[in-house]
Amino acid sequence: MTSSAERRLGDRIAREIFRDPDYMDDPVLAEYVQGIWQPLLAAARARGDLSSELDERFAWEIMLGRDRTVNAFALPGGYLGVHLGLIAIVSSRDELASVLGHELSHVTQRHISRLIAKQNQQTPWMVGAMILGALAASKNADAGNALIVGGQAVAAQNQLNFSRDMEREADRVGFGVMTQAGFDGQGFVSMFDKLQQASRLNDNGAYPYLRSHPLTTERIADMRSRQPLAARGPVDAAPALEHVMVAARARVLSNPGVDALRALLVEADGAKLATLAAPRQVAALYGAALAASRLREFSAAKAYLDRLTVLVRSDARAARLSRLLEAEMALAAGDAARAAVVLNAAAGPANAGGEGAAVRRPELFLAAQVAAQTGQRDRAGDVAQRLQSWIAAHPRDAQAWQLLSGAYAVQGQTLRAIRADAEAQVAFMDYGAALDRFKAAQELIRQGRAGAAAADHIDASIIDTRQRQVELLFKEQTLDR
Ligand SMILES: [Zn+2]
Repeated sequence: MTSSAERRLGDRIAREIFRDPDYMDDPVLAEYVQGIWQPLLAAARARGDLSSELDERFAWEIMLGRDRTVNAFALPGGYLGVHLGLIAIVSSRDELASVLGHELSHVTQRHISRLIAKQNQQTPWMVGAMILGALAASKNADAGNALIVGGQAVAAQNQLNFSRDMEREADRVGFGVMTQAGFDGQGFVSMFDKLQQASRLNDNGAYPYLRSHPLTTERIADMRSRQPLAARGPVDAAPALEHVMVAARARVLSNPGVDALRALLVEADGAKLATLAAPRQVAALYGAALAASRLREFSAAKAYLDRLTVLVRSDARAARLSRLLEAEMALAAGDAARAAVVLNAAAGPANAGGEGAAVRRPELFLAAQVAAQTGQRDRAGDVAQRLQSWIAAHPRDAQAWQLLSGAYAVQGQTLRAIRADAEAQVAFMDYGAALDRFKAAQELIRQGRAGAAAADHIDASIIDTRQRQVELLFKEQTLDR
């Protein structure tokens, strides 16, 4: 299978995943995962594992799923799926890097295209449907069953499993990639230990990753033998506060039921909490603050947050996450003014994160929500400008386009709002939905209801151009079927 055919198949699958209600683009979690993923990609390039042809042709995009089962999977065309359940159980960046490095290597070593080539009696459409069916089957049983057509998907999953040789190769290459990227190779071993424990304790479907990546004693022994002698044995370094907060966030977002949220409050309320190590306290308080906010118990949420703030104040990365949480909670409580104050304080010179004034996605997106909630035109204008420069560097960021659309709407710039909304659909590869929006914008112009400002002429011509370009993409997509 050629790389461009594989990319088209990947696009088809990704488009379905974007439509899945479990797909989520949480800016805090996504940024954390990107902070691991981008160094892995750079290392794979430097090592020559990632050819420039594949680098250019594939998407190299990570899609997060709300699912609380532990899973990560490589898809055709350089897309990777990561369940929040995996982020919730890893103890360090290194462990997450070991899984992502392994999955990345399945793609760079062309394991996926080899598997698909074996299905040569099937059309790409069938292979895509099989992969989607297998994904649905690997999710929580109740959610997945509706999507499975008979027993076909499970059979398909078995056909599409990687061979033992492929697993070994993905371990070997993945280990090289993650250590070259600066992660601790010990993360591979502790991740294997974690999976091994899980496979002994339960087989209740919470670990679909184990089904697709059976752990063999050989795989474990191989990874152990790669560790430098000095590093062998249990790692006793305390987990990073930033990491435990991200894991706690994944736990809350993947388990939004009232009972689960209540359990997190109980955890943080117990007298025992103060006796635990700092990372455990930080994780419990972050989880409780976010859970209470989700339960709309805002004064309780604030109390947890205040306790959290004290614990993390000397750790710049952790303190940043607690400020982001404070702004998020203020927005949820309808207090956009408070959220703006928190965000402004964070942007000031007092922010000793060492990352300077670089635009960061979580901050930018919260600022956009503040503008939308207050409905203040000048604030929306400022945020629209910042979103535009973000999009110039990240044109496929659908959520950024959606927020930009909202910022234009606040300013009464209807044409631009519709166009940005259309571009969000393009980013999701839903070209039909994008065309509907372009046509709506053109209709507004025809009726002379889009305003007569000079800028509108430019906007109108941009809309016409984009409409024609997307029309072509839509035709290609239809032919592909
Ligand atoms: Zn694998």
